[in-house]
Amino acid sequence: MNSPLPTTEQVTTALAGVKDPEIGRPITELGMVKSVAVAADGVVRVGVYLTVAGCPMRDTITSRVTDAVSALPGVSGVRVELDVMSEEQRKALQGQLRGGREEPVIPFAQPSSLTTVYAVASGKGGVGKSSVTVNLAAAMAAAGHKVGVIDADIYGHSVPRMLGVTGRPTPVENMIMPPSAYDVKVISMGMFTKGNTPIVWRGPMLHRAMQQFLADVFWGDLDYLLLDLPPGTGDVAISLAQLLPNAELLLVTTPQLAAAEVAERAGALVTQTRQRITGVIENMSYLVCPHCGEQTEVFGSGGGEAVATALTQVTGTTVPLLGQVPIDTRLREGGDNGIPLVLGDPSAPAALQLVKVAESLASRGRGLAGRMLSLSPR
Ligand code: ADP
Repeated sequence: MNSPLPTTEQVTTALAGVKDPEIGRPITELGMVKSVAVAADGVVRVGVYLTVAGCPMRDTITSRVTDAVSALPGVSGVRVELDVMSEEQRKALQGQLRGGREEPVIPFAQPSSLTTVYAVASGKGGVGKSSVTVNLAAAMAAAGHKVGVIDADIYGHSVPRMLGVTGRPTPVENMIMPPSAYDVKVISMGMFTKGNTPIVWRGPMLHRAMQQFLADVFWGDLDYLLLDLPPGTGDVAISLAQLLPNAELLLVTTPQLAAAEVAERAGALVTQTRQRITGVIENMSYLVCPHCGEQTEVFGSGGGEAVATALTQVTGTTVPLLGQVPIDTRLREGGDNGIPLVLGDPSAPAALQLVKVAESLASRGRGLAGRMLSLSPR
């Protein structure tokens, strides 16, 4: 009842049904099959390249290969011999997985980059993170700096409206030209979705979108790039830490202590990703009565200071409270009308605070001195 021996082609065809457990593609397509030899006694030896030594999937791969080959008629045994890809083979595989495209280069992540990247973060939504971002950007641009903003707040993407950007990104060659308003270049997740439909983004899509915003958008030579992050410590913040390890964080909070605690937790995450926290901005600090000038602390007090103190302790470096922006209906109106308060009503107390923060951020100068080394998160 002995079946004839299988040919090496038949073994290879069987191996085409074996998928790499991590990449999910047939091992034959990934250049992982090193050799196939069928011995006279029906024992088949299959040489398999692992992508890295000590690959955690080695046992899974071995058993999948064994199962696939032993199912062939005439096979009396299967021996899987593992080897490890060389550097060149790994590079070729990476190139193949990217569809032959070159690794996108993120100019801001290069050690020689002179652009300071500020990621504006908050513990929760609605604290004024986007309002702060657009006003800082507008104030910096008005002071003569070259400024770009990435609206990475996938749930809110309100930056284009707040800056009055109506243009669309334009494709030029392989790059995307960002629209601009008030000399601020802007790219938003919202520019790539139809209408105002909420988007359900999964982690890998977000990571790719962020990568494209950073690598494929023609930003030119920027002094400052501001990123409006989604609230909390989600996928975007983690992607950002990987893509731009040298980005610095600005944390926006309200004076309310509950909000401050959340902001503090968000800030403490950067001790794991080793990013630097430049400072805390307290928003909605108080309301000035338009009639008597009396200040009311609508959301309590001390939140910004509490976050700054706590983060100074956690990080071991001074995290200052950069400003306290009062509640001002003109700030909201400016956002709704696409005219940032710092430009529309520069003498308003809220505008003065925001300009002060922008100046302190810009006064740190352009250059590499004092920059943190780009260490990857552990
Ligand atoms: P986030 O980005 O944190 O979700 P937004 O910037 O979208 O917050 O602000 C939420 C709402 O609060 C917006 O309508 C905005 O205009 C308003 N707002 C933010 N800061 C102030 C302020 N200091 N005074 C008055 N309204 C503000």
